[in-house]
Amino acid sequence: MGKATGFKEFDRATIPYRAEADRMLDFKEIYTVPSTEHLETQGARCMDCGVPFCQSNHGCPISNLIPEWNDLVYRGQWKDALDRLHKTNNFPEFTGRVCPAPCEGACVLGITNPAVTIKNIEASIIDRGFEEGWVVPCPPEKRTGKKVAVVGSGPCGLAAAAQLNKAGHHVVVFERADRIGGLLMYGIPNMKLDKGSVERRVQLMREEGIEFVVNADIGVDRSVQSLLDEFDSVLLATGATLARDLPIPGREGDGVHLAMEFLTANTKSLLDSNLEDGAYISAKGKKVIVIGGGDTGTDCIGTSLRHGCESLVNFELLPQPPETRAENNPWPLWPRIYRVDYGHSEAAARFGDDPRQYSIMSKHFIRDENGTLKGVVTVDVDDKLQEVPGSERTWEADLVLLSMGFLQPEHYINEGLGMDIDDRGNFKANKSDYKTSVARVYAASDCRRGQDLVVRAINEGREAAREIDRDLMGETELP
Ligand SMILES: Cc1cc2nc3c(=O)[nH]c(=O)nc-3n(C[C@H](O)[C@H](O)[C@H](O)COP(=O)(O)OP(=O)(O)OC[C@H]3O[C@@H](n4cnc5c(N)ncnc54)[C@H](O)[C@@H]3O)c2cc1C
Ligand code: SF4
Repeated sequence: MGKATGFKEFDRATIPYRAEADRMLDFKEIYTVPSTEHLETQGARCMDCGVPFCQSNHGCPISNLIPEWNDLVYRGQWKDALDRLHKTNNFPEFTGRVCPAPCEGACVLGITNPAVTIKNIEASIIDRGFEEGWVVPCPPEKRTGKKVAVVGSGPCGLAAAAQLNKAGHHVVVFERADRIGGLLMYGIPNMKLDKGSVERRVQLMREEGIEFVVNADIGVDRSVQSLLDEFDSVLLATGATLARDLPIPGREGDGVHLAMEFLTANTKSLLDSNLEDGAYISAKGKKVIVIGGGDTGTDCIGTSLRHGCESLVNFELLPQPPETRAENNPWPLWPRIYRVDYGHSEAAARFGDDPRQYSIMSKHFIRDENGTLKGVVTVDVDDKLQEVPGSERTWEADLVLLSMGFLQPEHYINEGLGMDIDDRGNFKANKSDYKTSVARVYAASDCRRGQDLVVRAINEGREAAREIDRDLMGETELP
């Protein structure tokens, strides 16, 4: 275990982000680099619990061997820590940056003291691994002669491809976008996850023998049926890409955009031309309202601030969460508490206040006689989402970004395939074998269960790969 008395001796200390005023000037990552001593001290806080809830069902969805690598970091055995980390997680450089860390919510130390800084330690182990040159391509020793097509290159598709390749199958990943990575590339912005680290991992996978085909829109450029003619199995990992819209009066016209239109174009323009091609929706000098919260809402806030917006407000339909766990939200459940994410503290640094307005519902957009967006009219709602009489307010806006979640996958891919869809519009497949109703076609992650987290996408990609391997070979050694 870490140091026997570590949790008593040392306080939790997370690695700080760059100062808001500095980081808002660019799209570089928000993180700072910790000292080795800092990390070894934080690793020492781990109690090596008899029942480590951090890696249980309530904690890490991929059952990372957290107490083991906490101990190894405390002892300075970084390469061994990296080997342990890669046993359960194909892409710790992604989860170490973007995961909300359910492991920390379930950490036993969290019952009485602040939890171990598990996420910081994870990111530091893999970053050190890359710096030291310990992360190298590991192609399989033998090939099976079987071919698997993976449709969609988000964290699920990538994890499945890595595992299937490890088992010796020839894997081709088809992606409709012009770059590989799914929401890791065109969703989560650069300041939270540098795109160089996505490309670095994809390059390693190429060197391990995985083939990637971009600009390949399956269902448009070629059908799933044609993939079935060429491949032994097909895995659909196409994400939950259909966004929830806000069909209130005034929605049609310029100035109101889905969050993904804003975020995708920004990252593409940033990567293509450092934003010099102007091929993105600019928030510069605009009064911005972000409707809806979550990671997507925060990313819209952070991106608008970096463009230089004039003002920024964020509407939340639900009431402000409590500062500490409510009685019906005990440990080891994910703590539903008030959190200040990177975009919120940046907005407060620039405009003096947290941008979030709670318990508020948008009623209609205001446009002038030319159709130009001028604002939004809202009402307050109570805890049961009932409108509060007389609470109508008008907010000025010339850019509104809709970040209200995602409904389901798009369905053109399964047209004519006769594939069953569940009552939420997702591709129907269960979590035990990931089989759809069409023979040799599997579905996993957000397109199967609705939009969730990167770490759960990695988990489903790994599990689906195991089941595909079992079906192809009659048995499997994949975890
Ligand atoms: C803005 C935003 C920020 C987020 N931030 C976080 C975060 O900080 N932490 C976190 O844990 N989670 C976050 N999430 C959620 C997380 O990104 C997703 O749950 C995760 O990426 C799902 O992985 P996936 O592989 O199932 O799908 P996706 O990442 O959505 O990838 C699906 C891929 O399939 C491709 N595709 C779709 N249809 C076709 C087709 N017909 N042919 C070929 N390719 C196709 C798409 O282009 C896409 O590249 C965020 C989501 C969004 C939208
Ligand atoms: S629950 Fe917390 S203290 Fe216990 S083993 Fe996991 S990280 Fe360490």
